[in-house]
Amino acid sequence: MKVARFHAPGDIRIEDAPEPVAGPGELKIRVRNCSTCGTDAKIHKHGHHHIVPPRVMGHEIAGEVVDTGARVQVIAAIPCGRCEECRRGRQTICPNQESMGYHYDGGFAEYMIVPAKVLAVNGVNAIPDGVGFAEASVAEPLACVLNGQSLARVGAGDDVVVMGAGPIGCLHVRLARARGAARVFLVDVNAERLAMAAELVRPDAVIDSNPVEQVLKLTGGRGADVVITAAASGAAQEQAVRMAARQGRVSFFGGLPKDDPVIALDSNLVHYRELTIVGANGSSPAHNAEALRLVAEGAVTVSDLITHRLELEQVLDGIDLVSRGAAIKVTIEP
Ligand SMILES: [Zn+2]
Ligand SMILES: [Zn+2]
Repeated sequence: MKVARFHAPGDIRIEDAPEPVAGPGELKIRVRNCSTCGTDAKIHKHGHHHIVPPRVMGHEIAGEVVDTGARVQVIAAIPCGRCEECRRGRQTICPNQESMGYHYDGGFAEYMIVPAKVLAVNGVNAIPDGVGFAEASVAEPLACVLNGQSLARVGAGDDVVVMGAGPIGCLHVRLARARGAARVFLVDVNAERLAMAAELVRPDAVIDSNPVEQVLKLTGGRGADVVITAAASGAAQEQAVRMAARQGRVSFFGGLPKDDPVIALDSNLVHYRELTIVGANGSSPAHNAEALRLVAEGAVTVSDLITHRLELEQVLDGIDLVSRGAAIKVTIEP
């Protein structure tokens, strides 16, 4: 079979590999869709401290169980299920967390093995009828978005700002609407990418410069109830805090480059305005199941966000599209 393997930064190879064999307690999957995201682009450029090469990449996985033909979606982040955090129901911050495509071979392959650890935490979800494999593969990033918005308590009547118009930003706009947000504003410094995203997710306003001033203007000086940064930008995080309304919630959804993670924060804004700043680290198995349900019910549409469908041999083209911001969602169909 064909796989896309990471060997080193800048060195992802399409290779022939023997079909994997499922051991006891494991599941063999015929991968139908594995979507790409900014993380794949980051791994391609810099590698990742959790990846010991060579490793088959790909963590947004949907396919068929080889033995039964069952249509399934697979989680990406694998909690241990046994530590203190897991036992308290906080699986997204499990310190023993492992990931598909990092610690285990992922979905950029015709066949893949689901480790027993994934099955042990209910990490394989049946794809509901009417939901395609490509849509199901987007349940994983949507699950992360769901975790972020639940921690930031996005709810009815909120004015929500999403900073970053990539695939994650688009999912944030869609989910905020599904949760009853009053208005959603989309911000990106790349006017072209912003226009492409806005065409699809139709925010109430788009902002490509001076976001703090623009958001204050749009909200009559009040600021936004929730600001979500879906971009690896410290400047965006600093702006997010300044455009939040009193008792606003700020989600630092996207992480910062590990060599540049320090921002300037006016602590008095947090103090006097009673702001809440939250992070977000992936998603739990339950978030994945909930994301699939949201897609199946039509609460969050994802099919139109899939702008490119490529073959496995074109993984590098897909990653290139993602790095240039020239696509919303690129899915690989091995
Ligand atoms: Zn991803
Ligand atoms: Zn754990």
